[in-house]
Amino acid sequence: MPSVIQNRQSPNIIHHGGRFGVTGSCHELQLTPSSSLLVDCGLFQGAEAASDKERRGGFAIDFPLENLQGVVLTHVHVDHCGRLPFLIGAGYRGPIYCTEATALLLPLVLEDALKLGVTRDEALVQRVVAGIDKRLVPLPYGEWRELGTWDGVTARIRLQPAGHILGSAVVEVEASGARDSGLGGGEGGTRGSGLEGTCRVVFSGDLGAPDTPLLPDPAVPERADILVLESTYGDRLHEERKDRTERLRQIIVRALKNRGALLIPAFSIGRTQELLYELEEIIALHRSEEATAGLPWDDLEVVVDSPMARRVTEVYRELQPLWDAEAKQVVAAGRHPLSFEQMTVIDSHEEHLQTVAYLKKTARPCIVIAAGGMCAGGRIVNYLKALLGDERTDLLFVGYQASGTPGREIREQGTGGGVELEGKGYRIRAGIHAIGGYSAHADRRNLVDFVKAIPLKPRLVRLVHGEEDARRALAAKLREEVGVEVEE
Ligand SMILES: [Zn+2]
Repeated sequence: MPSVIQNRQSPNIIHHGGRFGVTGSCHELQLTPSSSLLVDCGLFQGAEAASDKERRGGFAIDFPLENLQGVVLTHVHVDHCGRLPFLIGAGYRGPIYCTEATALLLPLVLEDALKLGVTRDEALVQRVVAGIDKRLVPLPYGEWRELGTWDGVTARIRLQPAGHILGSAVVEVEASGARDSGLGGGEGGTRGSGLEGTCRVVFSGDLGAPDTPLLPDPAVPERADILVLESTYGDRLHEERKDRTERLRQIIVRALKNRGALLIPAFSIGRTQELLYELEEIIALHRSEEATAGLPWDDLEVVVDSPMARRVTEVYRELQPLWDAEAKQVVAAGRHPLSFEQMTVIDSHEEHLQTVAYLKKTARPCIVIAAGGMCAGGRIVNYLKALLGDERTDLLFVGYQASGTPGREIREQGTGGGVELEGKGYRIRAGIHAIGGYSAHADRRNLVDFVKAIPLKPRLVRLVHGEEDARRALAAKLREEVGVEVEE
């Protein structure tokens, strides 16, 4: 059931997913009783998809579309955009607003998601993706765009950098007009804001940590009457980026000592590019030293084995104007953070199988980044089958491993344990390591600072996209430190 949050002082926001969990993000902002905007249309995943059979594996659009005037996307992670094909399938024919980078990435992401989870019919996939592509309305960051007027309420939106992944946006919706709409000019709409006649509702989407590699920090809105804020890491604090990079270097050194491969399962969008950025940094800073006896950092091979990661990395490379100042400086110094000379990209399936076989035979010391991030599918599985039983191999987790996935099983079992991959049992002799913080989400400190920095404070913060513990911990901090009303 969608959860409806409603009170007299707030515009209605109906949550069709992502209110109490971390997948399926989909929020409907009612502008008037008969017109609304949808912010995100994400897929339910893992346990959240399985727990509700009516969602038919996380795909279902179980809400009416006739009032929908537009869809706004915060970013291209599938838990925020993966239900779009089903929204179109259910009859939606309106515009889909997003940033320019999101418009470039979305077709890649949806194509991949449809092939993995829905159909292998190439022609059908292309038709669905093309159907969505033509509804996209790419908007530059930082510019207001008027969407229209419905029953006297005029709505406009502005997208601001969210620092999470390339193209990610904080969505600001401003409504002005009719007094009885609950939004623009209504009593509740302006209460406490000091700005008569308008109401601003801000959706954070997923917010990045302030020091995310490659991307600028999230932009803070100047005003938010209602703030719909993500809370994924509302109960956690990340380690500092420089500490994390040093730990990555130490794990690489340890892994290479016994001359085997270091396998890193990673998601294609965001994490892979952050990892490449930090690997290039380590190699550049230690160029003249040896990573291990007889192997200078300069000769260390970094293999990216994922066609999807390759295509996304290309878009990251093309859109250098969106990089942060630090990354631009690295480029100005003549370095190439996402295409350095030690990096090898594997594309075809044949080449992939050859690489797996070659590493199994030679145990050549190198780093392999392959999708998927939780080892539940994708090319990483072949590497694990071939190399997990070899004690020279090391495996490094850089992201959350959901319960029930092989990744979680391997982490829990550790070296000496076992894991089932595609129906067959495998012994784990490889070394197992983990580093957090590549998840590209703001932690509790960052989220509190984000709200604190808004000059005209929200009269209501509604927490979404977080487990119960995370929401509760963040709500307590926000009440204590910022003094705002919070719905957790
Ligand atoms: Zn995300």
